Amino acid sequence: MHHRRIGEILIETSGLTEQALDEALRLQSEKGGRIGEILIRQGAVAETEVLKALGIQFDIPIRTTLLAPDLDTSFAGEIPIQFLRKYRMTPVVTPSGAVIAINDPLLFQPLDDLRRLPVLKDAGVVLSPYGAILSVINYVYDMSRDSAEQVIEDMHGEDTSRILSEIEETGDLLEDTSDAPVVKLVNLMLSQAVKARASDIHIEHSQQALKIRYRVDGILYDMLSPPKHIQSALISRIKIMAKMNIAEKRLPQDGRIEIRIADKSIDIRVSTIPVAFGERVVLRLLDKTNVLLNVSDLGMPADRLDQFNRLIRSPHGIILVTGPTGSGKTTTLYAALSTINTTDINIITIEDPIEYQLDGIGQIQVNPKIDLTFAKGLRSIVRQDPDVILVGEIRDLETAEIATQSALTGHLVFSTLHTNDSASATTRLIDMGIEPFLVTSSVTAILAQRLVRVVCKDCKEAYKPDRESLQSIGITPEMAEGRTIYRGRGCPSCLDTGFRGRTGIFELMILDEPVRNLILKTSDANAIKDKAVERGMLTLRQDGAQKVLNGITTIEEVFRVTYQ
Ligand SMILES: [Zn+2]
Repeated sequence: MHHRRIGEILIETSGLTEQALDEALRLQSEKGGRIGEILIRQGAVAETEVLKALGIQFDIPIRTTLLAPDLDTSFAGEIPIQFLRKYRMTPVVTPSGAVIAINDPLLFQPLDDLRRLPVLKDAGVVLSPYGAILSVINYVYDMSRDSAEQVIEDMHGEDTSRILSEIEETGDLLEDTSDAPVVKLVNLMLSQAVKARASDIHIEHSQQALKIRYRVDGILYDMLSPPKHIQSALISRIKIMAKMNIAEKRLPQDGRIEIRIADKSIDIRVSTIPVAFGERVVLRLLDKTNVLLNVSDLGMPADRLDQFNRLIRSPHGIILVTGPTGSGKTTTLYAALSTINTTDINIITIEDPIEYQLDGIGQIQVNPKIDLTFAKGLRSIVRQDPDVILVGEIRDLETAEIATQSALTGHLVFSTLHTNDSASATTRLIDMGIEPFLVTSSVTAILAQRLVRVVCKDCKEAYKPDRESLQSIGITPEMAEGRTIYRGRGCPSCLDTGFRGRTGIFELMILDEPVRNLILKTSDANAIKDKAVERGMLTLRQDGAQKVLNGITTIEEVFRVTYQ
């Protein structure tokens, strides 16, 4: 059988250029790999285009949607999940028949292995996107597990000695089949938290009760109440996973767990502190697979995005991002770095903590134990001939001075400051002891930001807010004319909160000449802000109001984050 080459097909069907194909072929000869995958990685073609071409090449039908409500999950007990993940294929069994979804048409042997299952004996084959296959795998193996609530139910009345029976290290939680109830509970708690998109898990207790709470989209929710008598076993299990000292209960400890849950790689920072009646444990979940990689995903309106895109490509200067803890500053900075990150520029960061590993970027972790401070790290970074520097936070005069110097000597510096709005950032630097003229000649822009929760798409409903509510975030009746305002009713997909996900609201202050002149004359942040508004800046609340009028978030959300 003669197969046409996939590159030829793609040039015909997808608008792939000869040049991009040559580049991909060159990479293939250097590093190996499948040509389709290289083209996708290079951004030269979309995955669907490659699938279409493979479909033509091998004469296999394409199916992009695989999940269905009546999916049969019973094969989970017969096929190891690792097998399906490794070969990127999955059975899709419904009452109307069975097919095997594959992502790579050249894997014949595993396909034959699957067909040995009676239910798949006559199953046809479809080509599907890897993501769709993975969703089925994760769904099927997830459904076949107990729920955290069920495990807790079983624990009441369970005797403690059995619960204390331990446990070995785990890799992927869906692959861990340990029967020890506490192991199960911890695993289920982590999977549930990841599924709920929680950023933190708090394990708290009083004399009588144990409580597990998740922080989702910035808000803490009570999730589980396991029986009190498993408290020490639960905490010990977490400490073992985090490689902490389980005997030490009187001192605070920090640890780290790296796990994979389904297709996500999660880095968990664990911290314990001694309190009355035991220890309080907080787990911070950092989803490494879920980084926003581009500034266009942050939620900036088009005009501001254009400005910001231009700013982050400046050859020198300081760009500051301000806002309280949890306002998304790190995400914005990582997105900025990822957007400008090409092999021809040298980017170095000093951070505390390093929240995500960025490909091709040198990242240094602040470490007070060895006296590696922001200032010290920054000093050594400058000697490494960087083009772009990220300083996690400017906390003191020394760091501020080196950052300013670096910006004036031809580096682009990104950093954050803990101030409420953009104008206060300039006065904060001056209060720290930086000369006003150094501030105005180095800082090019300040981005203040907050995160607002996004109205859940599955349960959003239009309503008519009263005049006072609208006024509370500066929306006049004229502005609201002809616009639809939404709120979420609450549904299972948003845990009944009415919100799902978050987006940023932004105040981008550009230090143009009139603004700079004023900063040199006054330390009054309000006057500086007024000048910036006069020069066209939208304030945080104005940007938030726009997002309300566009149906993205609610009045209460904008009110909450801009008045804190
Ligand atoms: Zn909902």
